[in-house]
Amino acid sequence: MTLLRHGAGSAEPDDDVDLTQSIRSLEVPGALAVVDDGADADMYRALLFSRDSGARKWGSRWLSQAGFETELRRDAADALENARAADADVIIVEAALRGSGDAALYSELIGAADLSAPVIVLCNSSREMTAALDAGAWDVVRKPLEWRLVGSRARCAVRAHALIREAQRARSAAARALELADSARQRLRSREAFEPVTGLPNKTRFIDLIKRGMKAVDRDGNVLAVFVIGFNRFRLVIEAMGQESADLVLTEIGNKINRCLQAAGEVSARTDGLWTAAAASIDGTRFGVMMTCSSDNSDLAEMQQNLLAALSQPVQVASQIVHLSACVGVALYPQDAGDAHRLLQRAENAMRDAQSHGGGFRHYCERSDAAAARKLKMEHMLHEALDRGGITVAYQPITHTATGRLVAAEALLRWPQPDGSFISPTTFAPIAEECGLMIRLGEFVLDEACRQFARWNRKRRRLPLICVNVSKIQLMSGDFVQTVAGVLERHAIEPECLELELSERGVLSGAQDLVSMLHELRRLGVRLSIDDFGTGDSAIAYLKEMPVNSLKIDRSYIGGMVADSKDAAIVSAMVALGQRLDLTVVAEGVEEPEQLAMLRELDCELFQGFIVSRPVPPGKFRKFF
Ligand code: C2E
Ligand code: CA
Ligand code: CA
Repeated sequence: MTLLRHGAGSAEPDDDVDLTQSIRSLEVPGALAVVDDGADADMYRALLFSRDSGARKWGSRWLSQAGFETELRRDAADALENARAADADVIIVEAALRGSGDAALYSELIGAADLSAPVIVLCNSSREMTAALDAGAWDVVRKPLEWRLVGSRARCAVRAHALIREAQRARSAAARALELADSARQRLRSREAFEPVTGLPNKTRFIDLIKRGMKAVDRDGNVLAVFVIGFNRFRLVIEAMGQESADLVLTEIGNKINRCLQAAGEVSARTDGLWTAAAASIDGTRFGVMMTCSSDNSDLAEMQQNLLAALSQPVQVASQIVHLSACVGVALYPQDAGDAHRLLQRAENAMRDAQSHGGGFRHYCERSDAAAARKLKMEHMLHEALDRGGITVAYQPITHTATGRLVAAEALLRWPQPDGSFISPTTFAPIAEECGLMIRLGEFVLDEACRQFARWNRKRRRLPLICVNVSKIQLMSGDFVQTVAGVLERHAIEPECLELELSERGVLSGAQDLVSMLHELRRLGVRLSIDDFGTGDSAIAYLKEMPVNSLKIDRSYIGGMVADSKDAAIVSAMVALGQRLDLTVVAEGVEEPEQLAMLRELDCELFQGFIVSRPVPPGKFRKFF
């Protein structure tokens, strides 16, 4: 089984510094200065081993002329120690002198590993010269000696030797630099292969793994399943928790997926041949899994269930508990696609298909491609529409039940199409949420509705209240209160003329953390209403904590209240509850006179519905004033 995971902490930041230093030492070989200008250089040091009386007289003199300070030794006693102590730049030695054993002294000096100075041997015969050169002498000079020549050869030896040592240093610096470059390249490659947050293989690496899995399957006759796992409303989590905590959530999800794979690995005996599996991070919020399955697909079904079961468990990060709804798409090799990229793409399309059905599991089929393409196209078109002013706002009157007086207008988003129809916000709002446009869209409708409201009132068309729907992602964006305050100021609207509608189903469920923010909005002076009342999983008890002004009874109860006595009872109870809590109660979706009559009887304060009007463009709304 191949479970790939990138080890943490492998980076060695100091290496970068090393690398530059190695390269710098290549560029500036300081020791080369030795050869540049001998005249100005310090004196060199020569160590001369010679019994010759002429050496004392002439040797020192000519060596001094050549720039050497010479130390003379008459015999070989303690020669190595003397040589080490002298730290000479060149050693000149008589061939005839014997070292501590029977060997020539020059051999001993050349062989001493800790002496690096070049050795020049003074010889009596060509035989001695050959022997000295064979032993590794730097240079040989034959007697009778011409000391002036010895001096200049010693100087050449020192310069050449310095050059060679510098070249050696440069070579080892180059080798070190290459080594560092190589390890840097490897680290880079491994960074390129793994996603930094989860430590799982990234998309590029995942494609490689899929290719390998495909080869194994070709050999063994199994099936390769590629899963793509996404989450509905993951952006909300990021908005709500911040990127850092969202990263922890992603890491925990990666761990869960890996545990599923490990469990599957332990029962993989059903698969003949090689069993391989790997998890990957495909991008910021999606995961991939590939796994060899038996051709009867029994382990595939098990894996699907295990993944969904594991991912439906809430994730705890610090004190927060996050509920996610996972969407899993799967495509199989060889059935669904013949190459790795297409296989992954199809699993991804299946996942998007699952997403648009609210979550769960989806197997790839041709319909998935079409659905994914449609969704992508819609994302693109929505971006364009927002940029080009192609999104508009319609208004629906809200009326006083007893008197028929116009009390408010609810602003509703519209996306008009060239054929005169429009795409409903219930279709495009979830897409906007997913592709990160919801905040922009929300700000647009808030600003536009307030602008329209101010314009009506300037023309003495008295409208007491404008109602605007607000999505959860807007509320969580952090600066929503300032945004609202800014809009009110921009259009010079009294705060109590704006009512923000918060859907019980979409906004308020599981939103304890929103309560303090709602109080802030109330302090600003705007009104708040609970929209779609009766559809959420929120307990009625929260009405006590939520600082709201009105309840909008969901239209599903109103639609059923004439024919279904239970719906009628529920509506009656909701109206009574609202009244007891001193809230304004609005009935939504009133279409028929019977419904309106019943609402009058129940003393439901306001209503809204097709019975008065569908939502209309602002120009057509005038007739209601
Ligand atoms: P909602 O807030 O409950 O809005 C009322 C919806 O019920 C509107 O649908 C309206 O056209 C429809 N409606 C009104 N009276 C009747 C009736 O008598 N019968 C029937 N069958 N329907 C009626 P619409 O405009 O398609 O909006 C659907 C939902 O989209 C809204 O439900 C709201 O949740 C969301 N939405 C609309 N505009 C916005 C917006 O600006 N921001 C946000 N966050 N959501 C919006
Ligand atoms: Ca509403
Ligand atoms: Ca509603």
